[in-house]
Amino acid sequence: MAELTPQEFLDKVLKPEKESDHICWDCKHLKPVIEGSKFPPADLIGYCMKIHWPFFWGVADFNVVKKCYAFESKKVAK
Ligand code: SF4
Repeated sequence: MAELTPQEFLDKVLKPEKESDHICWDCKHLKPVIEGSKFPPADLIGYCMKIHWPFFWGVADFNVVKKCYAFESKKVAK
């Protein structure tokens, strides 16, 4: 069995609450709302930690991000 990177491990154990077309899912700056979480507003898929730093930007479900100047892939070459 192949070893997981830290990011792959997090993706496996922290399942997001939603699925959508956001490019943010593949971006290392998104902290997704975790499955079963009751705290955040229902329209959020997660929080971007890059845009508006040092504040978090709530990424809304209804306003799909298709392109982003600050996108950085969370996939690392093996
Ligand atoms: S940097 Fe851009 S692509 Fe990455 S999570 Fe933030 S808004 Fe989404």
